[in-house]
Amino acid sequence: MDKVDCVVIGAGVVGLAVARKLARAGREVIVLEEAEAIGTVTSSRNSEVIHAGIYYRAGSWMARMCVAGKQALYRYCDERGIPHKNCGKLIVATSPTETEKLQSIKAHAEANGVLDLQLLSGEAARALEPALACDAALLSPSTGIIDSHAYMLSLRGEAEEAGAAFAFHTPLIRARAAAGLIEIDAGGKAPMTLQCSLLVNAAGLSATHVARSIDGMPLDRIPPSYLAKGNYFSCNAKAPFSRLIYPVPEPGGLGVHLTLDMAGQARFGPDVEWIETIDYEVDPSRAERFYPAIRKYWPTLPDGALMPSYSGIRPKIVPPAVATQDFLMQGPRDHGVAGLINLFGIESPGLTSSLAIADHVAELADIESVSRSR
Ligand SMILES: Cc1cc2nc3c(=O)[nH]c(=O)nc-3n(C[C@H](O)[C@H](O)[C@H](O)COP(=O)(O)OP(=O)(O)OC[C@H]3O[C@@H](n4cnc5c(N)ncnc54)[C@H](O)[C@@H]3O)c2cc1C
Repeated sequence: MDKVDCVVIGAGVVGLAVARKLARAGREVIVLEEAEAIGTVTSSRNSEVIHAGIYYRAGSWMARMCVAGKQALYRYCDERGIPHKNCGKLIVATSPTETEKLQSIKAHAEANGVLDLQLLSGEAARALEPALACDAALLSPSTGIIDSHAYMLSLRGEAEEAGAAFAFHTPLIRARAAAGLIEIDAGGKAPMTLQCSLLVNAAGLSATHVARSIDGMPLDRIPPSYLAKGNYFSCNAKAPFSRLIYPVPEPGGLGVHLTLDMAGQARFGPDVEWIETIDYEVDPSRAERFYPAIRKYWPTLPDGALMPSYSGIRPKIVPPAVATQDFLMQGPRDHGVAGLINLFGIESPGLTSSLAIADHVAELADIESVSRSR
């Protein structure tokens, strides 16, 4: 049977960042990916926003990973010329009640270490974005956008340079943990059995399924799994904004917001649609809810401008009734299986947090101390 030091399941942005980190720490790494290429699932179905870290619960993994990941990601992109733009975002209040909420959003962000938010009057916001309708706004200067594919290609390249290997069309089918080692049956065109001392489960939407396929992983440590789809609409009119525009969040969601891609093209969404099975079709009738929400801050949005675009699915580990979830990153101390790390519920801000998550995985695996001792 083939033996390898570390196996990473999944070549999404998180698996790629983890593979790069482990390989650069001197570990032998193979990434098993069931699809034909890197980043074909949630990592290519998101808003490509570098989030500031404003809303997450203070002290949560999301808050900590987002703030640390954002800084690491800007540095990474600057050093390697990865296309990105630190364009900033405006959170806009369109009623007196919402205006009151801006102050508490600012205070919440400060508790997360996001210290640069600026409260703006409606006039000051319009000086930045003349087409904007709002009573007041919060400017988040550290929010940005990134070409996530260029980023993932760079992570893959650096992982390979450091010796990592990639096996595509190669799903993990099942695994067995025993005596400090994990034995993996991989399927696909060339089925194989591999033994490793570290298995990182970065399978995104399938992470709970992968964990259940590992004999020895206690079932009561595996969270439930739910799917929350986010639908996007593109806009056939030129949106007159150069920053991302978000309404004041409402209970259950961030509201219908405007993000821009690197080419300056506007898209609206994602909304929240709880689903039972994976399905990426965007129902055009959902646009009816988008128009009135967008017109609160962009009153001149023309009729018929919104077109169904793409969707992504959030890997939820809490049901709809629970407002917030956190990343659930388990190492051997959490579940008792030597050499196994599970990454559950890596929804937004997983892209922003990817480098910080990889650092945390290295800590869980005690890689730093291993590499220092080499
Ligand atoms: C609608 C939406 C908008 C978002 N917007 C943002 C944003 O603007 N900013 C931000 O920071 N984050 C955002 N996110 C979050 C971000 O996209 C994710 O956190 C991130 O892409 C997760 O990466 P991943 O590698 O964990 O998962 P994935 O990209 O899903 O990768 C998992 C990989 O595992 C593979 N796999 C699964 N099962 C197996 C198996 N058995 N064997 C082998 N391989 C397997 C899959 O094929 C896949 O390639 C958004 C998410 C959604 C859904």
